[in-house]
Amino acid sequence: MIAIENVSKYYGIYKALDDVSLQIGEGQFFSLLGPSGCGKTTLLRSIAGFDVPTGGEIRIDGVPCTLLPANKRPTNMVFQNYAIFPHLDVGENVAYGLKRLRLSATEERKRVSDALDQVRLSGLDKRKANELSGGQRQRVALARALVMRPKVLLLDEPLSALDKKLREQMQVELRTLQKAVGITFILVTHDQYEALALSDRIAVMFGGRIAQVDTPKEIYQHPRTRKVADFLGGMNFLQAKLLGERTGNVSVEASRFGTINLSKPQGFAAANGHVTVGIRPERLRLLWDDEPAPHQLRGRVENRAYFGEVTYLTIGVDGLEQPLSMVETNNYGADDLPIGAEIRLAYDPDAFVLLAEDEAVSRV
Ligand code: ATP
Repeated sequence: MIAIENVSKYYGIYKALDDVSLQIGEGQFFSLLGPSGCGKTTLLRSIAGFDVPTGGEIRIDGVPCTLLPANKRPTNMVFQNYAIFPHLDVGENVAYGLKRLRLSATEERKRVSDALDQVRLSGLDKRKANELSGGQRQRVALARALVMRPKVLLLDEPLSALDKKLREQMQVELRTLQKAVGITFILVTHDQYEALALSDRIAVMFGGRIAQVDTPKEIYQHPRTRKVADFLGGMNFLQAKLLGERTGNVSVEASRFGTINLSKPQGFAAANGHVTVGIRPERLRLLWDDEPAPHQLRGRVENRAYFGEVTYLTIGVDGLEQPLSMVETNNYGADDLPIGAEIRLAYDPDAFVLLAEDEAVSRV
């Protein structure tokens, strides 16, 4: 539904977007995820019509709209700071954008009331915006965008001003709302958990470029490069030696983990016979007492961090350059393991992923 083709954006000689191409399907919850400065807001603003790309094309529903002003596009944007008028009441705030459509009073009232229903604010239309909680203000901002009945709703870090608990609650609501209204949502976020929890698909961006586009599960389980893996939660990285390569698969010697067979990511090339492999902390498991396991290593606890339901452990293993990170639920006493304790850990060789080299990025 949205086609972004070879879009670039320069600020002077600085490249904020570098040849970005992306397809976003109708009715999807799509997230642009990346660290500060990667260009995600610039891309969103280009889709909205607030920024004009230096090159490339953007089409919405087949209509070229790279140069079309924002108010002529079937999009609407919800801003990080809500941008609602404090002196107007909720109903007036929501009706604001409708004025230029010159609807009948009945139609306008109906649209406002529908939008307030959608965000669960019915009955609050006479409340002044400055008498609302942060979560309610966020809902007003959403209603104000939805009332325009856009085909695409663009959300620029809409939840970042809320505290953790409210943010998590609003994430669930956003997801439910998107499924209920059925329109395409494009969310900009630097929070990997938010992107994983909400999206049908995610584009991960670094340095003005798209590093990977996939479903949350694919991106988390099969990150293409080391940077993507690292940005989407922790990962243990190991340098490994390439033993053999067949179509779609490689076999590597990963230090103390022995020989491992892996599937090849797109764009994979081994540098001088060496490759990087990774395994997520939760794919390593403590072995208690004399529990057997086909694949195991001995190590010692170097560090421990208690997080309530889980404990993060740093495990030193002889012969490994870096200690391993692992995460355990506290049901069996991982939180009580003393620093220096000798442990055994089990791993599943199928849990390793092979990572392609990250692209070198130049922004001038
Ligand atoms: P954040 O999460 O911090 O908002 P972002 O990924 O959304 O970051 P953008 O706002 O798209 O990043 O900015 C991308 C790069 O372009 C940044 O390095 C930024 O400094 C630069 N940039 C953005 N807007 C302008 C501008 N108007 N003039 C000059 N440089 C700009």
